[in-house]
Amino acid sequence: MDTQRAEVTAYVALGANLGDPAQALREALQRLSHAQGVRLVRASSLYRTAPVDSSGPDYFNAVAEIATTLTAPDLLTALQAIEQGAGRERPYRNAPRTLDLDLLLYGSAHIHSATLTVPHPRMGARAFVLVPLHEIAPRLVTDGALKAVSGQSIQRMRSDR
Ligand code: ATP
Ligand code: CA
Ligand code: CA
Repeated sequence: MDTQRAEVTAYVALGANLGDPAQALREALQRLSHAQGVRLVRASSLYRTAPVDSSGPDYFNAVAEIATTLTAPDLLTALQAIEQGAGRERPYRNAPRTLDLDLLLYGSAHIHSATLTVPHPRMGARAFVLVPLHEIAPRLVTDGALKAVSGQSIQRMRSDR
């Protein structure tokens, strides 16, 4: 019997602003690429932004495209395991963090459960999501959407890869 699920294309936002955030994002991409049922298709450059609705040092952000055979809830669980592995704590809302992994898009699914909302409800308001997403999947981000966040300063880090 063929129990293989079809792959779904999903997009994950990565963010960190504690410790060595650039290293945390690189490690998270590694962990993601090795997670069961997840294939890393491509990753954006790293970007640096001042905290929005948050505090502490600058954030480093990136977006990854993955192909996954996991269901969306199982993918969220896998992302949370990677966050935990990076020492993520949640002392209060929008607290500085060692690693944040948000599920932006899961195929064309619309999900509204107690623990998961997809598309991510705040992605359209965030340059640190839309700019790296546009870098790797320009079809998914309209010019209008980019323009709406153009007032938020974001700096692409020179690639050292
Ligand atoms: P924001 O969601 O505004 O970016 P945050 O990332 O700081 O805030 P967290 O503390 O990391 O918020 O997550 C809070 C809860 O959000 C998680 O426990 C998770 O169940 C829920 N959640 C709902 N939708 C998503 C999603 N698309 N991706 C990740 N977590 C989600
Ligand atoms: Ca987040
Ligand atoms: Ca999160």
